[in-house]
Amino acid sequence: MSELLKIRLPDGSVREMPRGSTPADIAAAIGPGLAKAALAARVDGEVRDIMRPLERDADVSLITGRDEADALELVRHDYAHVLAEAVQSLWPDTQITFGPATDDGFYYDFAPGERGPFTEDDLPLIEEKMREIIAADKTLRREEWTRDQLIDWFEQHGERFKAEWAAELPENEPLTVYHSGGDWLDMCRGPHLASTGKLDPQAFKLTRVSGAYWRGDQKNAMLSRIYGTGWLNKKQLDTYLVRLEEAAKRDHRKLGREMDLFHLQEEAHGSVFWHPNGYLIWRQLEAYMRRRLDAAGYVEVKTPQVMDARQWEKSGHWGKYRENMFVIPDEVPNTQDEGPLVSDAAEWMALKPMNCPAHVLIFKQGITSYRDLPLRMAEFGCCHRNEPHGALHGIMRVRQFTQDDAHIFVREDQLVDEVRAFCDLLDSVYKDLGFERYAIKLALRPDERFGTEAMWDQAERELREAVAAAGRATEEFGWEELPGEGAFYAPKLEFHLTDAIGRTWQVGTIQSDRVLPERLDASYVGEDGERHRPVMLHRAIIGTFERFIGILIEHHAGRLPLWLSPVQAVVATIVSDADDYANEVLAKLRAAGLRADADLRNEKINYKVREHSVAKVPHMLVVGKREAEEGTIALRTLGEQQQKVLSVAEAIAFLQGEATPPDLR
Ligand SMILES: [Zn+2]
Ligand SMILES: [Zn+2]
Repeated sequence: MSELLKIRLPDGSVREMPRGSTPADIAAAIGPGLAKAALAARVDGEVRDIMRPLERDADVSLITGRDEADALELVRHDYAHVLAEAVQSLWPDTQITFGPATDDGFYYDFAPGERGPFTEDDLPLIEEKMREIIAADKTLRREEWTRDQLIDWFEQHGERFKAEWAAELPENEPLTVYHSGGDWLDMCRGPHLASTGKLDPQAFKLTRVSGAYWRGDQKNAMLSRIYGTGWLNKKQLDTYLVRLEEAAKRDHRKLGREMDLFHLQEEAHGSVFWHPNGYLIWRQLEAYMRRRLDAAGYVEVKTPQVMDARQWEKSGHWGKYRENMFVIPDEVPNTQDEGPLVSDAAEWMALKPMNCPAHVLIFKQGITSYRDLPLRMAEFGCCHRNEPHGALHGIMRVRQFTQDDAHIFVREDQLVDEVRAFCDLLDSVYKDLGFERYAIKLALRPDERFGTEAMWDQAERELREAVAAAGRATEEFGWEELPGEGAFYAPKLEFHLTDAIGRTWQVGTIQSDRVLPERLDASYVGEDGERHRPVMLHRAIIGTFERFIGILIEHHAGRLPLWLSPVQAVVATIVSDADDYANEVLAKLRAAGLRADADLRNEKINYKVREHSVAKVPHMLVVGKREAEEGTIALRTLGEQQQKVLSVAEAIAFLQGEATPPDLR
């Protein structure tokens, strides 16, 4: 065996290094700059500690702060360890459990000792201790232990949770612990930075605490979870904190209250109570989408809310998707006090979690000819999915939702064109709705899937081709492929919107499915007189009305475009002598098709302006004695300092222009 290892670097060059060299040695051999900047290394694709010796020839690339995604994941994981060490050094009877990196930071779950659960008041003290640990620049050293060693160590140190976990690990595989200096260790797969001093002590912040069940199961002990956000440097942290503050101001739950749009309550977990103002936004959006679909050659249908379990079995949902479905007994419930509500003999039905099977059932009525394709079948379909209570979030993550769903049945030869046309339609809808930027991603076959390899090869190729034909498989559109993230029946294109504060939201999708037409035996008669399978494109542009309205509210910070605003204008009086005139102006606005109200209360005008600003009313038409005499109004637009005096006719023409939906301009 040669004593030298052949290390291939990303530029293709090969370096010979003594056996047992570490990525840190390679970095040092390349130059002192890299030696300082390198945080970890990718060794044959796997991220590894910079101090971990190499056992064999390998492709090695060094990870620095410039490889942001990898670097962030590493530092966040390190912050989580430092957090756990800090907490145990402050309260030694605390037990540790687990603490992963998250999208913006990290958390760690603790079983607190005598002191009881942590509170936000504890965070500054813990942060201070974390900074001490970082300043001490403790080496993070990886060590392989056997399972029994782990169990013994944790049991001796009173770590009941870790010992329980270790006992379930495989017996004969080497397991790893990471030491922090000589004082502390945690069982962990790694990788980690070389030492705590690699972290920037000013680039993290502990943000909040919450309860969390051990192993996520409510039958288990309640743990105390501490969350933090962690970054590579202070500038990144500051940018993030500003964005967080901005996001809090825009929170759709807060604005939903202030604008009186909707509410949620425990009696209907995850289902929205739309108030008149909120439902006005919905109706505008739905009318807009319907016009766009009509113009694009879709037909609209309405299908049952509840279907028999046997139907869901045929479509495959009963097997693969049942945990997300609400099932209902097809039986008159027992109304007596004794006995179970539902008998053992009940047949089951389920609320639809998606509209697809019902659309295939419509497609199968009668005989479809190749000339009838593509058939674009749309439904603003109301669906239910059984999400755990903890996963729900305002109107963004709900259990009852309405999709802008459609299924396009196509012949093989029409597929690419149809997907391309969809890309164009979606592009135009997003621009109309005020989103300039979005990214397109192709989610490829998952591990668990229906269908043959050849089918997946073809389906993935076609979607790729369609996006390229639409001219959007480019960097500008953030084009990328996501291995393993497709649906179990089809690959999918995902469309991710970027909002005004830089957050991204996946809303649109199109999936090319050959599985469901097969399972449900859908066919058409081809030019050759034979039966053929259509391909089914599942597609949505805005996703669901609930979530999309939430995104719209946050994107526009409540200041919706006029055509979507529930109340477009309020006529407000300065003095009560102007009441009659205000009513006259209001009648004219309404006759012109504008959604307007009047505020004739005996309140100061500044008070009225403040109140309607909070409710995000876009325009106020202020009238007093002088306006009544001259037949004018003073127009105050939300967010503008100056008011403009206009004749009533001018004001109406201006408002009508702005209130016209973009597709009708
Ligand atoms: Zn770790
Ligand atoms: Zn579908």
